[in-house]
Amino acid sequence: MTLPEGTAEELFFDTYGRAPEGLWASPGRVNLIGEHTDYNDGFVLPFALPERTVVAAAHAEGPQWTVRSDLTAETVHFGRDDLVPGKIKGWAGYVAGVVWALVEAGHQVPPADLMVSSNVPLGSGLSSSHALECATLTALAGLGGFDIPGMDAAKLVQRTENLYVGAATGLMDQAASLLCTAGHALFLDCRTLETEQIPLDLTGAGLALLILNTNTKHSHADGEYAKRRQSCERGAEILGVPALRDIAVTDLPDALAKIDDDVVRRRVRHVVSENARVQETVALLRAGSVREAGPLLTASHASMRDDFEITVPQVDTAVEAALAAGAYGSRMTGGGFGGCIIALTDVDQAASTAEAVEAAFAAAGFRAPDWFTAVPSAGATQLRLS
Ligand code: ADP
Ligand code: MG
Repeated sequence: MTLPEGTAEELFFDTYGRAPEGLWASPGRVNLIGEHTDYNDGFVLPFALPERTVVAAAHAEGPQWTVRSDLTAETVHFGRDDLVPGKIKGWAGYVAGVVWALVEAGHQVPPADLMVSSNVPLGSGLSSSHALECATLTALAGLGGFDIPGMDAAKLVQRTENLYVGAATGLMDQAASLLCTAGHALFLDCRTLETEQIPLDLTGAGLALLILNTNTKHSHADGEYAKRRQSCERGAEILGVPALRDIAVTDLPDALAKIDDDVVRRRVRHVVSENARVQETVALLRAGSVREAGPLLTASHASMRDDFEITVPQVDTAVEAALAAGAYGSRMTGGGFGGCIIALTDVDQAASTAEAVEAAFAAAGFRAPDWFTAVPSAGATQLRLS
């Protein structure tokens, strides 16, 4: 299989008739644990995938930016007048939005010719949109000769998604894409923005982390996401705290007793218990006990299914089948209402676990899933400057 860097370089040449000045890559990510905790000022634990988006770039001759992707048949041009939130729609809006956020932050962004190639699955909760934005940002900073510290870059990408594209996403995905290092997960405190690289040596532990894409996406996902956020805000308000992060898991019974509304109560229970599970997972990984984290993954899934109500039959079936096949732990990963599940298995059991899920899907009449095993990989990198 051709890697995206090879494709990006070749298609840059075909499209623009010259070699790129450089290639920049940013990966997709998977969240090991910590779902819907980010906007509650809580904890998340993602790691970067080897699957990544590459942007080949060079200074443009004229005043415009031009972008093309191997996934779309269009070439999109935009100029300074288009740097208005929402003006460039569709996939190129992620690119124009990064230029907009950089210009707004006072950077001299050089007009550029860009070619995008990616092997991150699109729309599956592995954050292809952030991979595209982060690769674009690092490419433009590289071409422009300015350096943006990782967390500042992550905040600019968040502005791109929230204000230019109009997606109410948090900080986790771009922080992972920019800051992860190979062989580690990134423990991110979404309040203080402190990060810690946590060793995640799956191979050394004889384990594999299976990522299985259920190929489902609920059409009401955005509205449901907004409702979950509102319930969490309501919970914090009832409990008199700035965010649900401020409720310790040991105080959970008392806190729940103060909430009349059953839905809000269950949403609060998910967020508070999930924050505790992230911290417990981090403690286990620091001690090199990867396998022992399995039950925490499974408990996270049960909490998302029963308390946060963000799973769908396909992801529940996949998790049940993976556990029945002997996985140490399994959960949906990502915002919910479809997308991917992860399962922690012995290294030689990953394929048979995936096959068990495939069989369960066939029996239930669901569309066949895709799967691969995840390797904790490096975040954004500059591949080469020619
Ligand atoms: P996710 O980030 O989970 O993959 P999103 O819906 O947030 O899902 O982002 C997917 C969208 O991002 C695609 O529909 C497309 O508009 C854009 N996108 C991501 N990667 C690329 C790419 N390599 N080329 C063109 N567009 C891309
Ligand atoms: Mg996205």
